[in-house]
Amino acid sequence: MAGVYGLLPLGLKVYRKIENIVREGMNSIDGQEIMMNVLQPRELWDETGRFSEISEIMYQFKDKNGKDIGLAPTHEEQVTDIIRHHIKSYKDLPTSLYQIQVKFRNEPRAKSGLLRGREFMMKDMYSFHVDEKDFENHYKKVGEKYLDIFSKIGLKTKYVAADGGIFSKYSHEFQVICPTGEDTIYYCDKCDFAENKEIAKVKNDDKCPKCDGKIIEAKSIEVGNIFPLKNKFSSAMGAKYVDNNGSEKDLIMGCYGIGLTRALAAIVEVYFDQENNMMIWPESVAPFDVEIISLEKNKEAEELYEKIKDKIEILYDDRDISAGEKFAEADLIGAPKRVIVSEKSLKSGGAELIDLKSGESQIVEIEEIASVL
Ligand SMILES: [Zn+2]
Repeated sequence: MAGVYGLLPLGLKVYRKIENIVREGMNSIDGQEIMMNVLQPRELWDETGRFSEISEIMYQFKDKNGKDIGLAPTHEEQVTDIIRHHIKSYKDLPTSLYQIQVKFRNEPRAKSGLLRGREFMMKDMYSFHVDEKDFENHYKKVGEKYLDIFSKIGLKTKYVAADGGIFSKYSHEFQVICPTGEDTIYYCDKCDFAENKEIAKVKNDDKCPKCDGKIIEAKSIEVGNIFPLKNKFSSAMGAKYVDNNGSEKDLIMGCYGIGLTRALAAIVEVYFDQENNMMIWPESVAPFDVEIISLEKNKEAEELYEKIKDKIEILYDDRDISAGEKFAEADLIGAPKRVIVSEKSLKSGGAELIDLKSGESQIVEIEEIASVL
C-alpha cells in the first residue's frame, strides 16, 4: 500500500546507525529512553479531545469488544499519563523522556517513498519543567543538539522558525536544503536567519532583517521539529507538581521529533548522484566502511578479507559474476571506500584503493591495506 515500506538488510544497517547517533545525542542531554505503545485506548485521547480532533490522521478502529482503539501518530497523551503518575514535586524536575518507535499517520499525500510515509520510525522526546524559563533553556539545548546530530549523520540543516500550530506562537524545524523537498524556506546567505514559507515575512532577494545579508528561497526537506507545548497537555490531563512553596502547578512541556526513516531518505536525496547512478554514504551511516571487490576470485583478496573483517565493516564481493555487474552494484550500495583486487592490480603491486568521495585512487601493497584503511 502507498506510504508503507520495509527495510532490507542494507537499508536496515544504515537505519540502525542513524538511530544510534540519535540515541547517543538524546542521552547526552539527559534524555531517558522509554518505550510507549502503538495501541492507544480512546479514553486517554478523549482527555485532550484529540481522538476526534485528529481522527483524519489517526488510524482508528474498534476491537472485537467494540472498544475504540487508535494507532499512535504521536505520544503526548501517553507520556503525560506516565508523568502524572510519577512526578509529584519540583525536586523531580526537569525530566525528559524519549522513545524510538514506529508511528502511524493516515497521510493523505503518501508519496516520495520514505519521505512521507504512513508507517515510519521516529524519535520523539518530551520534556517537563517547573516554568517557561527552564523550558526555554532546554529547548535551546535540544535545538543545538539536533544540529549536531544531523551534522553527524551527514545532513546540513537549517534551524527554521515555523508556525506553532494551535498551542504555541512558534516552533522550529530542521530543514535540509534539497531541490526535491516539499517545503519552502527563506534563509539568509550570511547569518542563521531562516523562516518557513508558512510564516515568512520575507521573500527571495530581500535584505535580511537581522544582518546585511540576502534572503534566498529554497526547497527543503523537514527532518526534525521542536515544539513548545506549554501547559496544554498537563492542564487537560491534570499533570501537576508541587512547587517549593507547596502550591500545585501545571507542568510546562515541550516535544522534540526526528523522523528517522525520513532522515535516511533525505540522506539519499542529498548524496545520490543521479548522473552516474551512484550512492556514496556519509561514513558515519554507511552500511559498510569498505567494499572489497575480488575479480577472478584471487586468493589475495580472500586473505585480505579474512585479515581485516573483524576490524572494520566490510562487504566482500567474491561472486562469480562479471566485473561490470559488481561495479554497478557497488555504486548503488555506496560504501565510501572500495578495494579492488584483480590480476591487473596485483601486477601493479597490490590492490587498488579508491576513496569514492574524493575520487582518489592508489595502488597499495596488500600487506599495507589494513593500516591504510
Ligand atoms: Zn542575515
